[in-house]
Amino acid sequence: MILFKTVEQITSFLKNKKNEGCNIGFVPTMGALHQGHISLVAASRLDNDLTICSIFVNPSQFNDPKDLEKYPVTTEKDIYMLEKAGCDVLFLPPVQEIYPVYPPEKKQYDLGYLETILEGKFRPGHFQGVCMVMDRLLHIIVTDNLYMGQKDYQQCMVIKRLIGLLNLDTTLIICPTLRENDKLAMSSRNMRLTAEERKQATAISEDLLLIKKNLQPGSLSNLKTKAATFLADKNFKIDYVEICDANDLSIVENWDGKTPLVALCAAFLNEVRLIDNMPLN
Ligand code: AMP
Repeated sequence: MILFKTVEQITSFLKNKKNEGCNIGFVPTMGALHQGHISLVAASRLDNDLTICSIFVNPSQFNDPKDLEKYPVTTEKDIYMLEKAGCDVLFLPPVQEIYPVYPPEKKQYDLGYLETILEGKFRPGHFQGVCMVMDRLLHIIVTDNLYMGQKDYQQCMVIKRLIGLLNLDTTLIICPTLRENDKLAMSSRNMRLTAEERKQATAISEDLLLIKKNLQPGSLSNLKTKAATFLADKNFKIDYVEICDANDLSIVENWDGKTPLVALCAAFLNEVRLIDNMPLN
C-alpha cells in the first residue's frame, strides 16, 4: 500500500494511473477503522483496478467540539488493517492539506429538506461540513466509484445530491451495514462505550427490529411512541426515532402498506451518540 500525505503527491500519482486507463474506487473514512470500513474496501477491490482509502477526521463536520476532541484515533492499527485488506493507496492528509485556511471559506450547498430533518435537524451544520470535505476530496481523488455505508443512510442521500450539484462523473455505491454478533452496528464510536454501555447499546438494533416486526399499514404514531419508550426505558437520551420513506427520507405518519420504509434512530448512551437504521419492507 502506498501512503500519501500531500495533495500534490496523490494527484500526480492518480494522473498517471488515469492515463494508464485505471478504474478508481474511493473509500473516504475518518479512521478508527473496523470491519464495516474494510467491507467498503473489499467492495471497491471487486469493481476497480485501484482502491484508495482516505483517513481524515474532518473538523468542519463536528457541530460539537467535544465530539471532535474525543473522536478515536488509531492510525497504526488502521494502516495495518488496510494493508491486510489489500487497499492500494492510503491518503492521510494533515488538516492544512485539506483546508489551507481554517476555518475555510464557507460555501453553501443546497441540500433542501435533507438538512432540516433527522441528523440535519439535530446536528446543525453537520451536512454542510460533510459536503465541504467531500467536495474537496472528490476533486483531489477523481474517482469512478465512491463507496459509502448504508449505516449513514442520510449521509448517502446527501452525497448523492452533492454529486449531482457538482456535476461529477462518479457513481455512489451504497454498501450494507456490518454488525457485531449481537447486531450492534459497527461504528468507530463504539470504542468509547464502557463494558456496561456496550451491553446496553444492543437496544438500538432491538428497537429497529421491534419497529420492523410490528409494522402495519395505517397510522405509525403508536409504533413510533412504543419504539421511543423502549429506548428511553433503557436509559437512552433520544434525538429521534423515525419511520421514513426509504427513497427520499420524508417522514411517514400513515403507511399505505406499499411505500418502501426505513426506520432510523439516533440516541445518546451517556456521552456517546449512536445512530442506526433498518429498511423495513
Ligand atoms: P466514518 O469513518 O464513520 O466516517 O465512516 C466511513 C464510511 O464507512 C462511511 O461511508 C460509513 O457509512 C461507512 N461505515 C461506517 N460504519 C459502517 C458499518 N457498520 N458498515 C458499513 N459501512 C460502515
